[in-house]
Amino acid sequence: MAEQSEELTEQQKARRTELKAQAQSVKAQLKKCNRQVAMVFDLNKCLGCQTCVIACKTSWTRGDGMDYMWWATVNTQPGKGTPRDWEQMGGGFRDEEPQPGRMPLRADFGEAWDFNYDEVFYGGKGSEVHLKPSPEPEWGPNWDEDQGGGEYPNSFYFYLPRICNHCTNPACLEACPRNAIYKREEDGIVLIDQKRCRGYRFCVEACPYKKIYFNHVREVAQKCIFCFPRIEQGVAPACARQCPGRLRFVGFLDDESGPIHKLVKQWKVALPLHPESGTQPNVFYVPPIGPPRFDEHGNIDTSKPRIPLAYLKYLFGPDVEQALATLEAEMAKTKAGGRSEMLDTLIVYEWKSLFGPFTRDPATLEPRKA
Ligand code: SF4
Ligand code: SF4
Repeated sequence: MAEQSEELTEQQKARRTELKAQAQSVKAQLKKCNRQVAMVFDLNKCLGCQTCVIACKTSWTRGDGMDYMWWATVNTQPGKGTPRDWEQMGGGFRDEEPQPGRMPLRADFGEAWDFNYDEVFYGGKGSEVHLKPSPEPEWGPNWDEDQGGGEYPNSFYFYLPRICNHCTNPACLEACPRNAIYKREEDGIVLIDQKRCRGYRFCVEACPYKKIYFNHVREVAQKCIFCFPRIEQGVAPACARQCPGRLRFVGFLDDESGPIHKLVKQWKVALPLHPESGTQPNVFYVPPIGPPRFDEHGNIDTSKPRIPLAYLKYLFGPDVEQALATLEAEMAKTKAGGRSEMLDTLIVYEWKSLFGPFTRDPATLEPRKA
């Protein structure tokens, strides 16, 4: 009897190993892609205008159940971000093992605000009333905008634009029991098959960037699609195309002549956010340098940076130190009268240099047939 149960256990183990191998092979297929589109955001140029956020909102998240969704966000750092305290919610991988994550609540995102338009415009109350959100909100996607950190006169902040990172090793894809999440072979864009999704929300827990939203009306998970219908037509994503700061580069990571490859792979001045999450993001950031500090007499103090290095390491990992040193060396070169291809690339004299193969004017597209 004991022998039989032992034999059964061995069978179970073998079956389990077989099933695991099958599941891994399916996941490997879903993750496979021939090329990878990527973005680089130069944080030294973001002015926090939220144009990208609105460009995305008006393009993609106006449907039922999407009121509270902001696939593209721009938050002030240091800050709680959106959803509130997302950096403390877990998920991702450590040593290739999936990590538990917490599901953000609707309150962590904040509801879409409504305003008392009827009362102000049609209520006959004249100047007794003014426009205000109703009901009174308690949180929102940019609640702590421009607060930042540090002590006066050395307080500091910068803006952090975020979208789904279209990761090479997406935790969301790994966590989905329906295999509804996949990377497109031709460009590595991570999409959620809306017909396969059953709204279990394991992906929401697993994403360490908390960039998946649950549609409570349609009961499916939804997220940034890297504007793939535009990409297919050679048009840059709406957030990038609309950005007045000229800081959102778009292109293929393996295009050695393009700015993305140069900034990420060659010059190594663009880094992923929270690389320790193990998902291998394909959105990269040129770290902010910040203005100089003042000493106690009000004189410029160059002995240490105003934005603490420890904070930038927390965000972008240890490589940020070398990235900053490289940027500063290039700046010194140009101050001495030299030229820097890297700085010319980051300045973006001509907007088309931001977008690699995606420079087509959206106004030239044929309107979609109904
Ligand atoms: Fe998935 Fe999150 Fe990575 Fe986007 S950022 S691909 S949602 S793990
Ligand atoms: Fe920053 Fe550009 Fe977005 Fe404005 S549109 S917030 S400058 S990334």
